[in-house]
Amino acid sequence: LTSAGSTTFRHADIQKNTVPFQEPTFDLEGLKFGQVFTDHLFIAEHTEGEGWGRPQIRPFSQGITVHPAAQVLHYGMCCFEGMKAYLGVDGRGRLFRPDLNMQRMYRSSRRLMLADYDPGELLECLKELLRVDRQWLPEREGYSLYVRPFMFSSAHTLGVGRPTRSTLAITLSPVGPYFATGLTPIQLFLSEEHVRAWPGGVGDCKVGSNYAPTILPQAEAHRKHGTPQVLYTLPAGDGSDPESSVISESGAMNCFFLLDKADGSGQILTTPPLDGTILPGVTRDSILALARAWNDVEVSETYLTIREIKQAFKEGRLREIFGCGTACIVQPVNALIRANGDVIAAPFDASSTSSMTARMTRALTDIQHARVPSGWSV
Ligand code: PMP
Repeated sequence: LTSAGSTTFRHADIQKNTVPFQEPTFDLEGLKFGQVFTDHLFIAEHTEGEGWGRPQIRPFSQGITVHPAAQVLHYGMCCFEGMKAYLGVDGRGRLFRPDLNMQRMYRSSRRLMLADYDPGELLECLKELLRVDRQWLPEREGYSLYVRPFMFSSAHTLGVGRPTRSTLAITLSPVGPYFATGLTPIQLFLSEEHVRAWPGGVGDCKVGSNYAPTILPQAEAHRKHGTPQVLYTLPAGDGSDPESSVISESGAMNCFFLLDKADGSGQILTTPPLDGTILPGVTRDSILALARAWNDVEVSETYLTIREIKQAFKEGRLREIFGCGTACIVQPVNALIRANGDVIAAPFDASSTSSMTARMTRALTDIQHARVPSGWSV
């Protein structure tokens, strides 16, 4: 049954070593994001020469052992995904557009030259892990099982070179609302000093090295302004005119702006284009598709400068700002704060129930919890 030597692991080859389920003792409501894990993990390992070893589902408590020279520990050679399994109103567990996460994971891992595999097989392995840990799927609305596939170079060498050993694993973690404030709007700190990604870089891949440097700006913004996340900008031209910088995205969310058009001809929902500096979010793509199908506002993927946002705010045309991502789903934003403390934008529709933010949240969660049937639910 071994798939060793082949170019992918296969779900049919999974070797299972399971432990019996015991009712968790933690309080679901007190859960902090990503701190509690289910009983099992999926793991598959590849070495050059031998190919993929047999994939395993084994007790989480066994952990993963890495060599002190593992490339991931030195050069950050790792990538990951973030997705969720939801309990439907019919009592069945579902994933939301998992094929997109598998494709993005594949792209990130190939960018790092990690071992090749079939993303379709990875999805089948994930489903198998979810079946094993089925009883961990939270039953409460707003709660879900966060799914974290990740892959790294476990090659034992200090050489900065192509990885000759790769480890791919999946862990599951029961989670509640991402921000402690739930659907209450948050403020974002507008970073004009640090950038998250740049043309020619890897902003469109979910590689670990995109995240490590964002902790400091986020911690500083939180200390100085009390904001839970940073909204990054990218300087335009030679960077001498800060007002012409464009909005990029947040540390873990894509962002949308809803504006009244300057010529009075209705509204426009806009998000930055996928130019290689933006992570192609699954939630972003879903929001664009829903908004285009509703067809009541113009939908656009274009750059938005700080000058344009300030102008729209000044003229009372800035209606809504929201972040979106698997962890938070849709997160209303009620202010953008600059380093000098200036609030450059405070959308006026942020918390209305008829807002685009609220409608999108309902539409997405209705699909995720199968209140509305959709091909996006798997
Ligand atoms: N941008 C970044 C930088 C992220 O880390 C995430 C979370 N994956 C997102 C956007 C949102 O992507 P998704 O909707 O696929 O979760």
